[in-house]
Amino acid sequence: MWRDAFEIREIDLFGRLGRLYTRRGVVETPTLTPVINPSKPVVEPQQIQRMGYQLLMTNSYIIYRSYGDLAKEVGVHGILGVDGPVFTDSGAYQLMIYGKVEVKPLEIVEYQVEIGSDIGVVLDIPTRRDTPYDQARLEVEETLRRVREALSLDLKGMLLVAPVQGGTHIPLVAYAARELAELPAGMYAVGGPTQLMQEYDFKELVRLVMTARLNLPWAAPLHLFGAGHPLMLPLAVAMGVDTFDSASYALYSRDERLMTPYGTLRLSEVEELPCSCPVCSKHSAKELKEMPRQERIRLIAEHNLYVLLEELRRIREAIREGRLWELLESRACAHPSMMEALREYVRYSRFIATKHPVTRFPVRGVFFASRLSRYRPEVVRHHERLKYRVERTRDIFLLFEETPQKPFTRAGLIKELMLQDTDIFRMSDAAVLSYPFSLIPLELDGVYPLSQYEASRNVFELAMDEIAADVLWYILNKGYKGVVLVYYTLPERFVRKLSESLAAEEVLFLGIGVENYQEALSNPKPLAARIRAALETLHDLTRDRQAAPAPA
Ligand SMILES: [Zn+2]
Repeated sequence: MWRDAFEIREIDLFGRLGRLYTRRGVVETPTLTPVINPSKPVVEPQQIQRMGYQLLMTNSYIIYRSYGDLAKEVGVHGILGVDGPVFTDSGAYQLMIYGKVEVKPLEIVEYQVEIGSDIGVVLDIPTRRDTPYDQARLEVEETLRRVREALSLDLKGMLLVAPVQGGTHIPLVAYAARELAELPAGMYAVGGPTQLMQEYDFKELVRLVMTARLNLPWAAPLHLFGAGHPLMLPLAVAMGVDTFDSASYALYSRDERLMTPYGTLRLSEVEELPCSCPVCSKHSAKELKEMPRQERIRLIAEHNLYVLLEELRRIREAIREGRLWELLESRACAHPSMMEALREYVRYSRFIATKHPVTRFPVRGVFFASRLSRYRPEVVRHHERLKYRVERTRDIFLLFEETPQKPFTRAGLIKELMLQDTDIFRMSDAAVLSYPFSLIPLELDGVYPLSQYEASRNVFELAMDEIAADVLWYILNKGYKGVVLVYYTLPERFVRKLSESLAAEEVLFLGIGVENYQEALSNPKPLAARIRAALETLHDLTRDRQAAPAPA
C-alpha cells in the first residue's frame, strides 16, 4: 500500500519532493517516466536509463499481444534490457483509441505481476471528453469495481496504480477519488487527460487534477497519465503530481519538433539549436537537417529527453529553494493557455496555503514579479490572518504607503517617525499599505515574509483596485472611525477614490501627500507634526460625533 511506498521530504506550494520505494529500488520524485515502445524503441531503454531517468514505462498490453507467455520467462526487464524500476501501463490508452482491447481486466493485472512489473495499472476505462454524465458515471463505477477486484490479488510487491476517472465531470472525479482513497492502492493516478493536453486545455486540466488531489490522501503518490510537455511540468508538480509518463519526446521527434522549456520548435525553421545538451553540442541544426531521417528522429528524441530531464531538475531545485511559484509564473508568461491555467490554479490558493511551508531555512526573500503573485500562498495566508487574528485597539487608523526600506519599523521613514514622536503610534493603529499584501499592521512587521520581499509598484499598477478594495474592507470590517493616509507615490485618483468610498460609509479621512520622500526621511519633524495634527483633528471630530444627539 502507498503508506509503505512513498515518503514526502519537502513541500513547496502543492509540489512535493519525495521518494517512491519500488521492489527494484528508490525513485526520486517528482519525475517523468519516458514511455518505451517494447517492439521498436526510438531511443534504447538502457541509454534512457543512463541519462538519469530512474523509472521507465512500457505497455503491458503491447507486450501481451506481441510476446504472450514468453514474456513471463524473460520478464519486462529482460525485454527492455534494463534492471531498474519499470512501470507498465495496462492498455487503457488502446481502449480509448480503438474502443476495445482483447484481454480481461483481471488478466492484464495478473500478467503485469507475472512479467515482473514494479508498478502496474488496473485496466481502467478512460473518460473521454465527450462522454455524457450518465455513461461516465457507469464507467467510473466499473473502474472502481476493477480496482477492488485487482487489489484482492497477490501482487507480489508490485505497486498497483488506481486511476481516478470522471474526465471533465468534476463531481464525478471527486466521487471517484473519495472512493479510491478508501482502498489500499500502491499509488493513485489521474487518467485520461491526453485530449485536454493535445488541445492545450490546461485550465480544465487544473480542475481535474486539483479535484483528484484534494479528494485523495495527501501523503499518497499521484501519477498523471500522458503529461509530457515541458511547459506544463512545473504546473503539474505544483498541483501535487509526483510522477508523469510521456511518449511526447518520441512523438515530437517523429514530427521533427525540438522541445524547449517554453514550447516546441520545428527543426526545419531553426537555424541554431538553442540548447547545449550532448546532441546539440555535437551537431549543428544544418547537420541534423541533412542526416538520414531515422538517425535524425533518434537524435531529436534524445534532445527532447535531455530537455525534459533538465526541466525536472530545475523543478526539484525550485522546490528545495521555495521558488516553485516563480517558475510557474515564468512558464505562464510563455503561453496564453498556461496563463489561463495559472489563473485557475490560484482559485485553489486557500487549499494550497494549508500545505505550503510557513517559513523555511535558510530564510529567502520572496519576489513578487507580477500581479498574479498576489495569489501566492503567503499572501492568502496573510489575508486570513488579517481577517481573523488582527483586532482594532484604537478608533483611528494610520496608514503609510509602503516604503523602500524593510522591516518598516526598523528602517526608513516609519522608524524615523517613531523616534520623532511615539505619540502618533499611541493615538492610532498603524499599518503599511503594501502592494503585494495590501495591508501589513505594524505589529506584524516581523512575521515572515512581510519584511522579506521585493516588489515594485509598477508591477502592481493594475492591481490598485484590488488593493483599494482590501483596504476598504479592512477599515470597515474592523470598525475604524477615522483614517489618516500618508503617501508618497500613490496616484491622486487612488487617494480620491478611497476617500470617497470611506465618506459613503461615514468614515472620516485625511490624506497627507509627501512631496519628497528623501527630504522627509532626512528631516521627519515637519511630517511628524502634520500627522499628529491630522490625528488630533480626527480624534476631536469622532468625539464630537459620538457626543452629538441621536437623530429623532
Ligand atoms: Zn539539445
